[in-house]
Amino acid sequence: MSGSFLLRGGRVVDPSTGTDETADVLIRDGRIEAVGAGLSGDAEVVDCSGLVVAPGFVDLHTHVREPGREDEETIATASAAAAAGGFTAICAMPNTDPVADNAAIVEKVWALGREAGLVDVIPAGALSKGQRGEKMADIGEMVRSQARVRLFTDDGHGVQNALFARRAMEYLVAFDGIYAEHCEDEALAAGGQMHEGERSAALGLRGIPAEAEELMAARDIALARLTGCRLHLLHISTAGTVELVRRAKAEGVAVTCEATPHHFSLTDAALDEYDPNAKVNPPLRSESDRAAIVAGLVDGTIDAIATDHAPHALEEKDVEFQYAPPGLVGLETALGLALTHLVAPGHLSLLALVDRLSTTPARILGLEGQGRLSVEATANVVVFDPNATWTVDPQALSSRSKNTPFGGRTLTGRVVHTFYRGRPTVTDGAVKAGVMV
Ligand SMILES: [Zn+2]
Ligand SMILES: [Zn+2]
Repeated sequence: MSGSFLLRGGRVVDPSTGTDETADVLIRDGRIEAVGAGLSGDAEVVDCSGLVVAPGFVDLHTHVREPGREDEETIATASAAAAAGGFTAICAMPNTDPVADNAAIVEKVWALGREAGLVDVIPAGALSKGQRGEKMADIGEMVRSQARVRLFTDDGHGVQNALFARRAMEYLVAFDGIYAEHCEDEALAAGGQMHEGERSAALGLRGIPAEAEELMAARDIALARLTGCRLHLLHISTAGTVELVRRAKAEGVAVTCEATPHHFSLTDAALDEYDPNAKVNPPLRSESDRAAIVAGLVDGTIDAIATDHAPHALEEKDVEFQYAPPGLVGLETALGLALTHLVAPGHLSLLALVDRLSTTPARILGLEGQGRLSVEATANVVVFDPNATWTVDPQALSSRSKNTPFGGRTLTGRVVHTFYRGRPTVTDGAVKAGVMV
């Protein structure tokens, strides 16, 4: 059984009700039984004084690498990394090997997530067979599967063909599915190693212009307007894309979007030493783009913070910059980066931060009883110390891969406890023993 826990005296932050006050939270049988002052009951007491108690985080964008690249990450190790980062649900991107483009694969991913038992692993399905952008994937079958897929994407690639994008959106409307795009015009981005600008010129690396993202974002917004399909733009990175989404929302288009911690905390200056761990796709952009991402998170144009956790084996990253694959591991540094770069400088309140990390992504995915701490909600809870400082040690990460550009960096804010469906998955900062990692 999951047991009973009384989280005593923490700062309870629940964006679903606008709550930000000192209170106790009683967890029993996998649910929130009560929230209030001076609670008692037959339960294990967890002292939360000085700590924040919030609904567990929901990552809209995790690459779990299983099936296919279990040497880089498995669903069990991704789940452990997620729990360590305060997450209780992750959306698994479908660019595995084989691609998750049919019911059998998404059900396997879903079942492996259940087996690991640390977070909800919610499979996303591919839009196209093999993510080749030609034939439609088995979308209906994936929706009706046990995994009940609702977010579809060819992430890793953008859908290059506008007619295919339109057809996929038209099809998804019938299932209330979400069309999620990795916005990248491959012809414009071809051969690009980093953001196109003064720095790429100085470093002698081929650039990826902001327009490679913005053209596809604009196209998809137009197609969402045409079809009525729900559109989600993954990892947006440029000031122009933020403005496109802002205008589309004002107009009533059903569009949501996310930004990553690396895009609000780093710029292309991180490439000055040719660090392959700072090579990501979309690339780290200019300071004005970074500032626009922060502004988008502040005014809610950007709905969610998502990690784009992308594990890579050491031997693949430890090569000349131009040969390194893009991506970094992000689950375990997301909270620290957000507290350090968004909350500490006064851009976001804690309430707004928890909204972007939990409440709104849970709503986008339609996760009932998640992203909230109300009575009867699922007892997915993160307890974190907003003031603790720690230094990122890549070797200490729970993720099987260690590709982070944040190694050696000191961050403020750390997860202390995570509860998943009423069970502790992280206690005093350590992922529950006995988990296969
Ligand atoms: Zn992507
Ligand atoms: Zn991705």
